Amino acid sequence: MQELRWNPVLKWWVMVSDSREQRPLTPEKNCPFCPGSGKVPDSYDVLPYANDFPILSPHPPEVVPSGSILYRNEKSYGKCEVILYSPEHTLSLGELPEDNIGKLIDLWVEKYRELGDMDFIRYVFIFENRGKEIGVTIIHPHGQIYGFPFIPKKIELELSSCREYFEREKKNLYLEILHEELKDGRRIVDENGPFVTFVPYFAEYPYQAYIIPREQRLSIDEFSDDEKHHLGRSLTRIVTIYDHIFNREFPYMMCLDQKPTDGKDYPYYQFHIEFYPPLRNEKTQKFNASSETASWTHGNPSSPEQKAAELRNIKEKLYGDR
Ligand SMILES: [Zn+2]
Repeated sequence: MQELRWNPVLKWWVMVSDSREQRPLTPEKNCPFCPGSGKVPDSYDVLPYANDFPILSPHPPEVVPSGSILYRNEKSYGKCEVILYSPEHTLSLGELPEDNIGKLIDLWVEKYRELGDMDFIRYVFIFENRGKEIGVTIIHPHGQIYGFPFIPKKIELELSSCREYFEREKKNLYLEILHEELKDGRRIVDENGPFVTFVPYFAEYPYQAYIIPREQRLSIDEFSDDEKHHLGRSLTRIVTIYDHIFNREFPYMMCLDQKPTDGKDYPYYQFHIEFYPPLRNEKTQKFNASSETASWTHGNPSSPEQKAAELRNIKEKLYGDR
């Protein structure tokens, strides 16, 4: 059974599938993403890899109508893909050579367009889960892409706030946030040409970081070659900085937020990348517990200004003023 089920209270879709229960635990050895596994070509740079257990599909199974007016269900149209960053098993996003991260960004652009052009996909969500704390079983460097048949609730809220702000102030909300951060300066981590990395004022997680372009761009396919080059650098830098905090592989959720692909205009939005790392310190994890899950209320157990200073010091040691 696989379908979308509508929650009429929260007004969102839940992707339901029982086929993923059979998802095997991947053994430490025999990585399927390494050349020679028989599952990937013998050589590649970056590679899209069809998800073995997609929860959304261009050819979803038929659904049995719920038979209820209150309870709606729909076929789980969409697409789920894995993006392999490198053939090297232990390389991280932060260690990718410049031309390799360039190819990764080009592949994101290609996939944003390819999935976005599918008439049943309204939002292309590019992301990476990294580390066992996030439940990742394969360490081989990879991210994922979900092509959703709907605009996710949180993005819908972002879009609505940006539209409201634009109508009222005639300004872009994300660029105003960036302006505010630059003016204050205490939470800035890395200024790299057209991109700025900072810990947001309202961070929920101790080491949360945003990467935002200084100019308005709505989606990954709007960047020039030079901008993509700098974006690659901002990405490898923040991941390298993270890995230097505790001198260990630093777990995170990395999410690219961009314009929906439903054919409508969103002139008030802004492309940005959000990093949510779940560690509070070297050994303790910040869990999403009752408050976060049931009331969407986060407690940040740290000062965003101090955490940003910590990240900025590592940045200066590694890269100086560049
Ligand atoms: Zn591998």
